[in-house]
This record gives sequence, C-alpha cells and structure tokens, in this order.
Amino acid sequence: MKIGVLKGDGIGPELVEATLFVLDACKVGLEWVDIPIANEALVKYNHPIPQESLATIRELKVAIKGPISVDKMKGRITCVHKDGSAHTYPSFNNAIRRELGLFVCPRPSKGIPGISDPLHETMDLIIMREITEDAYSAIEHRIGNVAAECVKLCTREAVERVTRYSFDYARKNKRKKVTCVHKANAISITDGFFLECFRDVAKTYPDIESDDYFVDAATYYFVKRPEMFDVIVTTNQYGDILSDLGAALMGSLGLGPGGNIGTEAAVFEACHGSAPDIAGKGIANPTSLILSGVMMLRHIGVYEMADRIEKAVRETLISGVRTPDIGGTSGTMEFARNVVSRLG
Ligand code: ATP
Repeated sequence: MKIGVLKGDGIGPELVEATLFVLDACKVGLEWVDIPIANEALVKYNHPIPQESLATIRELKVAIKGPISVDKMKGRITCVHKDGSAHTYPSFNNAIRRELGLFVCPRPSKGIPGISDPLHETMDLIIMREITEDAYSAIEHRIGNVAAECVKLCTREAVERVTRYSFDYARKNKRKKVTCVHKANAISITDGFFLECFRDVAKTYPDIESDDYFVDAATYYFVKRPEMFDVIVTTNQYGDILSDLGAALMGSLGLGPGGNIGTEAAVFEACHGSAPDIAGKGIANPTSLILSGVMMLRHIGVYEMADRIEKAVRETLISGVRTPDIGGTSGTMEFARNVVSRLG
C-alpha cells in the first residue's frame, strides 16, 4: 500500500526517518511517496500547501507527517482551488486539515511506568479533538487599536460527527465511557449547544456510558484523577490544550502521538511542534511519531503489527533506552534501532 510522507521541518525529517525505519522493519508492504509541504513546497510550487500535494494525499488516502515550523508559517494562509475558489485558514495545520476534510484529531494519553509520574503510570485515555471549527475558524478581526473579536463557531453537523466518531471508537475499542468537555456554564450558548448536540448523540448509544465536565474541572481531574476519563470529546481549542497536557503527563511532548481523520483521508502526526531548539542534533524523541505510525497501521487494518510495535516502544522506554527529553542519553535513531530489535 502507498502512504504519503510529509517530512515537515525542524525535527520533522529526523522523526520521519526513525518512524519509517521502524515501519519498514515490519515488512507489511508499505511504499512511501514523498509529498512536498511547507518550505520544500515553497521552493517547488511557491505555496506551502500546494493543491498538487493535497491531491496526492487525497489519492493515497493516508499520510504520515512531521511537524511544521509554525514560526515560518505563522498567520493566516489562503488556499486557492483549481476552480478559482479560495479559502483562508488561521494556521498551516488548520489549512491542511480542513482542505482535506479531516474532522477529528484523536490523541491518546497512555502512562509509561518509570517515566510518567506515579499518578499517571496507569493513565489510559484518548482525547477526540474536533478540528474544523470553534475559535479556529478564521472568523476574527481587529477593531482598530482598541479591540479584537473572534467567532467561536459551533455547528450541529460538526459536533454530531465528532461525537458519533467518539462513541463508535469507544464501541470498537471496548472503551466504557465518553466524556464531553466544555464550558457551558460561561459560554452558555455556544458551548451549551456543543453539550446539547453531544447529549443528543449520546442517547443513541445506550451501551456506552456518558458524562460531561467543565474544561477547568476536567483539567484539574486530568492531573489529579486521570482514571476518571476514558474517551474525551471536546472542542478544537480545549482539545488542543488538553492534548499537550496529556503528553506532559505521559512524561514529555515527545511521547504524544496523534492522527487527523476524515472520511476521505487521514494524516498521522505527533502532537508537538517542530522543536527548533533541538533540530538537527539527532536527539529528538521519535516515540510520538512512531506511535502515530502505530495509529496509522490500525487505521489501515494492520492490527497485529501495530500491537507489536507499540509493545516494543514501551519495552524500549521501560528498559531505560531514552532520549534526553525524558532523562536519557540515546539518540533518535539509536532509539528506533532498539525498538526494531525488540520486534521479534
Ligand atoms: P514550534 O514553533 O514548531 O511550535 P516550539 O519549540 O514552539 O516549536 P514544540 O516543538 O512543541 O514547540 O516544542 C516545545 C518544547 O518541547 C521544546 O523545548 C522542544 O524541544 C520539546 N519537544 C517537542 N517535541 C519533542 C520531541 N519529539 N523530542 C524531544 N523534545 C521535544
């Protein structure tokens, strides 16, 4: 099967190299197709997200992506389509997600003995972040030098879609509960509507438990009592923040995997940025992208190998082979080689 590869920048190319090294060792018949994006695409197509690259991702349906340097790509980005229509997005990653119709970003937070703090060693939850709307809809403007305002968009279609995805995921993966995280006490109309749509969908899944928490309370319990959560479904902004917290509670941003899923395509990527401070040094933690690769394997139905890689990654970490972000001295590729040596 052909899989798109978007190397990204900063530590992106190093993480991609380590991840493809592990996936290649599995011999499950994956063929990599390089797709230019960001700086590489600017040189070739004079646009950081060329329509040509998007078309290749749509055709392949699945891609793995390194992080992008948001500093260089910051601010709004406009994509012009073949038919002349154009759409402006608030950021680079938001543009890729929405151009491809990706609507949910699943981000697991799973504790690792000896690395996560004792309270989070057994943590095992997944955050389903809605990624098409909320305050990231690029509907904002300044009012001269006195104010600025932003529309926090929430549609029934988007909330029901991400909620159904979360309940279906819970059913398929034998998860017991789906929790909606919102702030309906303060943003009563918009987040109140998110909660209402969540509850409407929850009623149609009587076999799965459901509940909800205000985002501030959820953040507190995420730190103090992570076992309260199983599957969390939430808005774009709360999900963005909570998933970085999840990676921190695992032990490092370099441990947090993720995916961006739509009906037509899926792009798997780590939950962190391009870490320019350590780029090119060969010390970035590739766990985040290797585990994103594991999510990708499950997405394409390669379950047994996905389980084996995940087990090998956890064994490697627990054995003490660790990159500097989690107190070790291993390099990126040394870590990847160690994972491969444990695949059996
Ligand atoms: P960007 O501008 O691309 O968002 P950033 O440095 O602002 O980059 P992150 O890339 O998310 O944000 O990095 C935050 C911190 O976490 C940095 O100190 C970085 O070195 C560290 N970090 C992120 N990812 C990893 C990783 N895979 N391995 C080791 N450290 C990481």
